[in-house]
Amino acid sequence: MSNKTKILILGAGFGGLELSSLLSRALADRVEITLIDKNEGFIFGFSKFDLMLGQSSRPEVTFFYREITTHSVEFRQETVLSIDPLRRHVITDAGSYETDVLVVALGAEYNIHATPGFAEGGHEFYSVPGAIALNDVLKNFESGKLVIGIVGQPFKCPPAPCEAAILLDEWYEKRGLSKDVEISVVSQWGVPIPPSPDGTKAILDKFEERNLKFVTDRVITSLDPTRKVAICSDGEEIPYDLFLGVPVHRVPTVVEEAGLSENGWIPVDDRNLATKFPDVYAVGDVTSAPVPKSGVFAESAARAVADHLIAEITGEGDPEPFDGKGSCYVEFGGEMVGRMDADFFPGSTPTAPFAGPSVSVAREKKEFAAVRRSRWIDG
Ligand SMILES: Cc1cc2nc3c(=O)[nH]c(=O)nc-3n(C[C@H](O)[C@H](O)[C@H](O)COP(=O)(O)OP(=O)(O)OC[C@H]3O[C@@H](n4cnc5c(N)ncnc54)[C@H](O)[C@@H]3O)c2cc1C
Repeated sequence: MSNKTKILILGAGFGGLELSSLLSRALADRVEITLIDKNEGFIFGFSKFDLMLGQSSRPEVTFFYREITTHSVEFRQETVLSIDPLRRHVITDAGSYETDVLVVALGAEYNIHATPGFAEGGHEFYSVPGAIALNDVLKNFESGKLVIGIVGQPFKCPPAPCEAAILLDEWYEKRGLSKDVEISVVSQWGVPIPPSPDGTKAILDKFEERNLKFVTDRVITSLDPTRKVAICSDGEEIPYDLFLGVPVHRVPTVVEEAGLSENGWIPVDDRNLATKFPDVYAVGDVTSAPVPKSGVFAESAARAVADHLIAEITGEGDPEPFDGKGSCYVEFGGEMVGRMDADFFPGSTPTAPFAGPSVSVAREKKEFAAVRRSRWIDG
């Protein structure tokens, strides 16, 4: 019998990959890490812009899990069908697992059907298939009102709808169609990025320069595809010719059925991301941790869980609590990128000072992606 601690990580996204690589580096011979994901590879959220605009193919933006060489990490491409958090027992489409430590990092899914009319009359770029399918739609859309509507909260990567508007306008500009396609972002918020006044100003300045609209304080509740209008909670109607929605987000069904979520998301201890079940942790978008749903916060949560587990398993060290920090890159077009250094330390007022946009931050973003590839995949 092995005396190694068995750690089962469900979901090989930002959170799961970061956690597996940290534990592997710190505890290599003391743990057996199994990492499960239903997909064949990881794709950054921001790569969905490239897919939507036809600038890269799916294989070009995929980190294939079969290439993982991280020590003590075994990847299995399986779909999780049920989780028993009390017994730390997991059933997948290929087998079942008992584990010492269970980490749920299954991310957030989209519920298109929560918004009547969306499935029939809208498109989206938040999922990989949605972004790929959108490319043909965009190529055939040459004039009219293009509305990017945020239909639910919370949603992943708060700057993403505005980034999409800027990149789409640039894409149409290259085709000589920028004047014919009127792009607007419809938001439930009063500004693009509430905790970042400087980031908000930079985005709104870019919107003004490009003649894009940011429509505030609107809650879109349904679409009427026949009349091509988005209907708001107060009855106001927003006409569109092409509707790109940021869908309502939810936990994967398997998480809800496990009794792990409450009020929509998995509640966790703000310091170490422990759930109410012993030796069961949750990181990233699947939780109700008081941070935005972004990869960089899934990463900082993974760091906190790793520190905590390393201290528990080695009996040494004083683990750092979850710092709620993450630097988010924001696309501004023209190969320029800005950066928000967000600090959502639990219990304090969030701040997000802004740097850029510049080509040097754009280079930094490329480096960010390359470093993840080598850390997560090449070990
Ligand atoms: C357009 C767009 C742009 C974005 N840009 C950025 C950005 O610039 N910076 C940033 O930090 N974040 C960005 N994000 C957000 C980022 O992608 C997510 O917040 C991040 O991926 C969350 O990490 P996670 O580990 O919680 O979940 P995920 O990365 O979503 O990983 C969850 C994993 O669980 C797997 N899974 C789910 N259910 C099952 C199941 N039943 N069985 C097996 N596996 C399952 C999924 O396949 C997935 O791989 C962007 C998102 C979008 C949509």
